[in-house]
Amino acid sequence: MSAPVLNPVALPAATLISEAASLSADRYVVIGNPIAHSKSPDIHARFALETAQSIDYARMLAPLDGFEEAVQEFVRQGGKGANVTVPFKLAAYAMATRLTARAEAAGAVNTLAFSDGEILGDNTDGIGLVTDILRNAGTPIAGKRVLLLGAGGAARGALLPLLQSRPVQLVLANRTVAKAQELAAQFAQKFPKENTIVPCGFANVDGPFDLIINATSASLAAEVPPIPVSVFGARTLAYDMMYGKQATVFMQFASAHGANVRDGLGMLVEQAAEAFFVWRGVRPSTAEVYAALRAQL
Ligand code: NDP
Repeated sequence: MSAPVLNPVALPAATLISEAASLSADRYVVIGNPIAHSKSPDIHARFALETAQSIDYARMLAPLDGFEEAVQEFVRQGGKGANVTVPFKLAAYAMATRLTARAEAAGAVNTLAFSDGEILGDNTDGIGLVTDILRNAGTPIAGKRVLLLGAGGAARGALLPLLQSRPVQLVLANRTVAKAQELAAQFAQKFPKENTIVPCGFANVDGPFDLIINATSASLAAEVPPIPVSVFGARTLAYDMMYGKQATVFMQFASAHGANVRDGLGMLVEQAAEAFFVWRGVRPSTAEVYAALRAQL
């Protein structure tokens, strides 16, 4: 992929860096602060090439207090859609004029689509996670015991797609137990037909589990949530949403206690594929993009 170049289109409240600007192609951006590290332009350029879709996908650095203005300006300039990353997922949720059920459930938006004055807010993080687990890792969720660690944005996004995959039990453990309890209560009220979520603290989880997902940001600080080692069994898949060149500390800990491990790079690629589908109505294949990104780490 070519190195990012400065896009000639000027945005007053944001800095736009484009992969391959084209006047005729439909325009998309990933908006965040910071944004230079984002792999999304590379991923979407590869998807576009593979599916023969003509799109121009750029990075947009929005000021911390200027997300909405940056989006509105992009819409005025004919932008078709945006991915949204840290710290703007709640702001994107707030400015959407229509929400998908999974965005509603997550309380956060990572994908915006603009058409006819409407701003559609979607959340593809959770379905990206579930697709990576089911299809790429080949690990079933139906009828299994699942432990989700964390109750922040990433965990919220994962809850509905996980529940819709019909685990026999979904335990939600968080450092701040009240947040897990609040989230479980909100879900029971909003989605009464789904299985209930069992909220608890890390020390109280009672294993073993078939699938353990680390949706805390502890790995960023090279910390492991203090869960009992009895959560791991010989057939447990321990999944860390974080990814990197080396196995995260959580993956190392889980491996040492007999679990199979996987990081969140596949989730990143699958959430992007779902966003591409929302915008273009075409589903790109992901295996080669995943392999290319893995090689670049
Ligand atoms: P948030 O800040 O919204 O939530 C952080 C969560 O981590 C909270 O539940 C918090 O607990 C918990 N936490 C933070 N530090 C610790 C610690 N030292 N020990 C135990 N728990 C801790 O973050 P996000 O939900 O947005 O992101 C979580 C992770 O998911 C990040 O690593 C992020 O990189 C990854 N992610 C990966 C994606 C992918 O595509 N692969 C997509 C989105 C996220 P408390 O409530 O007590 O503060």
